[in-house]
Amino acid sequence: MHIKKNDLLPSTRWSIVYIVVIPIVVCIFASWNAYQRISEFEQAHYRVAKSTTEIVASEISKRIKERQRNLRVFAKREEKLLHDISRSPDNEALNKELNKKIKDSFPNYFAVSLADREGIPIIDDFDGFVGELCKEDLKLHAQGLPQPMRVHPNTQEYHIDIIVAWNRDDGKAKNETNGGLLFVSFVPDFLFRLLELSNAPRHELMLINHTIKNLIEVTESGTRIKLDRNDYLLTEDEKERILFSSPVENSAWDLVAFRDETLFSEYRIHIINFNLLLLGFFIFVSMLMVGLLLRIEKRRISAEETKEEMFSLFNHDLRAPLNSIFGFLEIFTTTDLCIKSPEKCKHLANRAFDNSLVMREIIDDILDVQKMDAGEMSFDFGEIEIISVIKDTVEMNESHAQMNNVKLLMLNDESVIYIKADERRIKQAITNLLSNAIKYSPENETVTVGIERKNTGVTISISDNGPGIEKDFQDQVFNKFAQSKSKLTRRVGGTGLGLAIVKHIIDAHKGKVTFKTDPNKGTTFIIKLDF
Ligand code: ATP
Ligand code: MG
Repeated sequence: MHIKKNDLLPSTRWSIVYIVVIPIVVCIFASWNAYQRISEFEQAHYRVAKSTTEIVASEISKRIKERQRNLRVFAKREEKLLHDISRSPDNEALNKELNKKIKDSFPNYFAVSLADREGIPIIDDFDGFVGELCKEDLKLHAQGLPQPMRVHPNTQEYHIDIIVAWNRDDGKAKNETNGGLLFVSFVPDFLFRLLELSNAPRHELMLINHTIKNLIEVTESGTRIKLDRNDYLLTEDEKERILFSSPVENSAWDLVAFRDETLFSEYRIHIINFNLLLLGFFIFVSMLMVGLLLRIEKRRISAEETKEEMFSLFNHDLRAPLNSIFGFLEIFTTTDLCIKSPEKCKHLANRAFDNSLVMREIIDDILDVQKMDAGEMSFDFGEIEIISVIKDTVEMNESHAQMNNVKLLMLNDESVIYIKADERRIKQAITNLLSNAIKYSPENETVTVGIERKNTGVTISISDNGPGIEKDFQDQVFNKFAQSKSKLTRRVGGTGLGLAIVKHIIDAHKGKVTFKTDPNKGTTFIIKLDF
């Protein structure tokens, strides 16, 4: 299969596809995982709420039954006293005795009273403790109907009532009072303490009256009157936060567990953030890998290009001088030209010599570029006097300038400037720049070399009055094998390696090489080197 040099390799293309697919797969997996974890979290809270409400609801009904049993035992034990009070309900001494005895048996009682068999209170309610709900409950009890436990509102205290029947069989006539109802009111502190203690973290327990729709009865902080709110019906938000609800036996209550407002949303945000982070990490790594792959590919493509340029170089620039050397040597060996016409022979030998110099320069450049690419170009840094080094270089290029009918002029204000550099490499860089300036200068023009001392180093400039470098090509001049397609400079020949080598040398000196160019004025290359 033929692969164009600018095409990505199929293996690279597939690797990129896999790398891009990985975050997509991770995204799908992360979403599924997030969904699973969120629903597991929510289910766990529902399960905790279910077991808590069931256990606490049964504990509440157990404790209420216990109080009823205790009160029944009390009524049985104090039958005579109850009987006496029901006969003379206004007897204060008897009432006091009853209150005292109740207090001894039920220290946290709130009020105690008696009713007849029909459930009508028989003790005067001076303190207003017996409210409408109490009377209703007494009647229900008297009729033998179930009296569901509920909170009784009262100006003094919201409370619950425990009612038991008492009966004294004293053998007297039936119409005489020998039975009735004893009822004791309690502040249900045991309920809210139980709710408070049984609460799971970030859950809230409440007793809700299911006969009056969604009326709050008891919370962890007390009966509903303790709450700081306008009404005691559950709001829509509270209804949404219900995790589980269990009925409390023999009462008007459901024990309801609520989650706190942010329990689920916080966890969802936490999981989503975690998954986004994970995804972000995978996307980042994928992008990094794609970037790396593309970089490697770019290098491969550039190596392909270099290879092709090399082949074309060998084909044109090396083959031509080699052919001419070959031709001259053939003449010398197959003819007697050198004996018959030594002058002509010397002239041809000189041309063969020039061609071999061209070949050597090209081969030197290729070897330098190869070393440059491998990072193996050698440098020998030392203290050098830059003005004399530049002077030497200008002199070395004098004959080349003369051959092209170009003058070389050196301008410098200072006489000695020392810098730290590799003399041989600096000469090589300046020679490359001079060679270009000479090459592209029109005949009889002057190439000027300037050196200036600056605060931190020196600036060397090489200016010519040539055709300039056209705009489109300016960002490529320092690239390997880069040669302008412009008609004005193309004719001059070369390999396009000179400026790449200059840049590499100056970079190795931690200096800077730039250029200014104008089609009407020519080109100036500027090298800045620090002391
Ligand atoms: P080599 O230096 O390898 O023999 P070259 O001179 O073509 O070949 P570079 O020195 O790298 O290669 O220069 C790259 C290209 O930049 C040149 O081909 C030319 O188009 C342009 N260029 C460089 N210097 C000048 C200049 N002084 N004036 C106009 N164009 C220039
Ligand atoms: Mg050049």
